[in-house]
Amino acid sequence: MRPDAGALRAELGRLEAEGLHRRRRTVEVRPGPGTTAIIDGRCLVNFCSNDYLGLAQHPDVSAALRSASKRWGTGSGASHLVSGHSREHARLEEALAAWTGRERALLFSTGYMANLGVVEALVGRGDLLVEDRLDHASLIDAARLSGARLRRYAHGDATSAATALQSSSGGTALLATDGVFSMDGDLAPLPELAVHARARGAWLLVDDAHGLGVLGSSGSGTLEHLGLDAHDVPVLIGTLGKALGTFGAFVAGSAELIEYLIQRARTAVFTTAMPPALAAATCSALELAVREHWRRERLHSLIARFRAAAHAEGLPLAASETPIQPLVLGSPERALAASAALERAGFWVAAIRPPTVPRGSARLRVTLSAAHEDAQVDALVEALKRALREGHS
Ligand SMILES: *Cc1c(COP(=O)(O)O)cnc(C)c1O
Repeated sequence: MRPDAGALRAELGRLEAEGLHRRRRTVEVRPGPGTTAIIDGRCLVNFCSNDYLGLAQHPDVSAALRSASKRWGTGSGASHLVSGHSREHARLEEALAAWTGRERALLFSTGYMANLGVVEALVGRGDLLVEDRLDHASLIDAARLSGARLRRYAHGDATSAATALQSSSGGTALLATDGVFSMDGDLAPLPELAVHARARGAWLLVDDAHGLGVLGSSGSGTLEHLGLDAHDVPVLIGTLGKALGTFGAFVAGSAELIEYLIQRARTAVFTTAMPPALAAATCSALELAVREHWRRERLHSLIARFRAAAHAEGLPLAASETPIQPLVLGSPERALAASAALERAGFWVAAIRPPTVPRGSARLRVTLSAAHEDAQVDALVEALKRALREGHS
């Protein structure tokens, strides 16, 4: 036996005892193009994916992937700076820059890597990084990696963000926040944060993983929704694996910022470029996301439908107008029991537990998609009502 095996087993035992052990569910088939998944031989309606616009299985996007892979093959073969940067990547970067109203955009392989690379390139030892308490884990890890002094402020509290910014000792300051909070669905107070960042001469970085495609009339995200531009928020991070239904991420900003990141963002420099066919597929998804307004309208009508029905049933709704609709239940056990009851009723809603959310706030995180049907949403609310009632008795 290896010397560490006992310690690992003890830790796994502790996670199990506290209701915090997680396991991956294997999806056998996604019959598509809807939201169903076959798991353990049963067909469930998926209410916990981030495929907000229903593009992850769109036939045009799949066709773009296939056709580009015939031309380009599978792998890019190298990092962007060596020989992996193709015309498909360049085309996608231009489309993302145009969509978000910025001079340039730079692709990353994942949102996690984008946050690590961008933050670490902008701040280091002696600098100040200010973050919302509920920022995504990748922004917290970026802080550790950068070596900058991290100050976290109360969730959504622009005044305490301003106070934290005052604590700077003269180096560079960066204020970083999610646009839409990934586990709560609420929006950051960006207009106020932009004023404070500008007053202090700090960079403002917004990670809009859950706003892109969903908010704003052209779907370009939380900034469009709130009427903010590149002047207010100079650093915009977006991911491609959520509303756009593919995979990857980008940062968009001024020509100087992007040129600097091409030199300095280690998670872009020292990694293989995404497959060119994936960039082509994402271009196709982006065109659909921009052109097909009905997807956003449909999504927002389902959000309103879900909230009205859940409210009428007295379910513990959160203050969220986005497709992320959490029902905070408290203990991990309660969230697990509710998730299991929903699964018996034919719905897949994963229980979200610490460390993804703070202790005492385990929850069901319902996410809605333009691909859901009205009747599925109605049936989910009915099943939630029963699952939560069972949990109480
Ligand atoms: C999902 C997510 C990420 C990570 O993006 P990936 O492309 O999945 O690595 C980063 N930030 C936020 C807010 C997210 O929700």
